[in-house]
Amino acid sequence: MNFQNTIDFAKQLDAQDELKHFRDQFYIPMMHGKEAVYFTGNSLGLQPKSTQDYVLNELEDWATLGVEGHFHARNPWMPYHEIFPQQLSKIVGCLPNEVVVMNQLTVNLHLLMVSFYRPTKTKYKIICETKAFPSDQYALESQVKFHGFDYDDAVIEIAPRANEHCIRTEDILAAIEENKDSLALVMFGGVNYYTGQVFDMKSITAGAHKVGVLCGFDLAHAAGNIELHLHDWEVDFACWCSYKYLNSGPGGVSGVYIHEKHSTNTDLQRFAGWWGYEKETRFKMGKGFKAMPTAEGWQLSNAPILSMAAHKAALDIVEEAGMARLSAKGKMLSNYLLFVIDAVNTNQNIQIITPRDEAEKGCQVSMLMKQNGKQIFDELTKQGIIADWREPNVIRIAPVPLYNSFEDVWKFGDIVNRITN
Ligand SMILES: *Cc1c(COP(=O)(O)O)cnc(C)c1O
Repeated sequence: MNFQNTIDFAKQLDAQDELKHFRDQFYIPMMHGKEAVYFTGNSLGLQPKSTQDYVLNELEDWATLGVEGHFHARNPWMPYHEIFPQQLSKIVGCLPNEVVVMNQLTVNLHLLMVSFYRPTKTKYKIICETKAFPSDQYALESQVKFHGFDYDDAVIEIAPRANEHCIRTEDILAAIEENKDSLALVMFGGVNYYTGQVFDMKSITAGAHKVGVLCGFDLAHAAGNIELHLHDWEVDFACWCSYKYLNSGPGGVSGVYIHEKHSTNTDLQRFAGWWGYEKETRFKMGKGFKAMPTAEGWQLSNAPILSMAAHKAALDIVEEAGMARLSAKGKMLSNYLLFVIDAVNTNQNIQIITPRDEAEKGCQVSMLMKQNGKQIFDELTKQGIIADWREPNVIRIAPVPLYNSFEDVWKFGDIVNRITN
């Protein structure tokens, strides 16, 4: 499409946008008495207006029913988590028995590694991306230490080439091949939180499987952002948080995917709790753990209903919009953002470090600021743009399809232009 950097053009794109009415379903934060331009849906998604009702219903049921709510609440709490697999399987591209909602992201990363990082003396290495999100780095570090290995020896971080910002798939595949004799796991992000690069999950998984190694992904920046086909790509396991592109509230519950070939294997090692126990006999409270033959078999605890209610409110909206339409609009928003930045970047102070290729990006665009980055960022904030600053010199911008408009993107360019030119 031939874009134009004018407000009329942006408004025309909004008029043609079949998802535009979803914006009214969210609370947009105010700044200086006006609606902010909210570009941090990749960090904390906005609150759907429906969330309060969903959560209040549970509070009411708790008030009126007490413990009976486990069976008699409008959405009975005992099987509450069972309402998610149908919806989530469409969002991440898997079968319903491969997905479960539980705990939080880093907790789930550890639980999954308990099952899928089973190092031996000779095969113990993990391949991951360099500069992964810190929590993921700490999880990997503590996992290898827990098994008695040394981080620098056991964890192979794949980095971009000199003077590049994104990681080449061929370099990931070459590292897998090169280390195949000592490799135990490939554990990558789906989308890098810093650059916004979408990794080629299908090829990375195939590369790992070719040398007989399992492959998992942290989808924190992918779930609700891009289309995923976890089952068809034969990804072994994955997890994500629900509070970024999935708008389920700060610290919201996390999602877990485990491929059917593993989720049905009740003998697979795991750390168990009563909520993962065979449903029919769970309340006999007998000795000896018997896992459910689905991803639910990894659950430990009974569900945090208030957090799950917020998740349900948000997923109902995502489902109505549909991942294909959301992902298409997300890419179009970031394409327009790139166009607008290019148009105002006359002094070349901004270097885009997000790939421009559609297959390698979602909503997010990361701008490396050559000079005065922090000053420009602070000025953006003053002008009502909520964006994200990452030391030492990157501004991350994420226009998201459910509640951002093309006009938001145009406004951003206009303000950058006025600040920097
Ligand atoms: C946001 C994010 C996290 C946050 O982890 P929590 O356990 O939810 O606090 C972890 N990893 C990645 C890649 C993230 O983007």
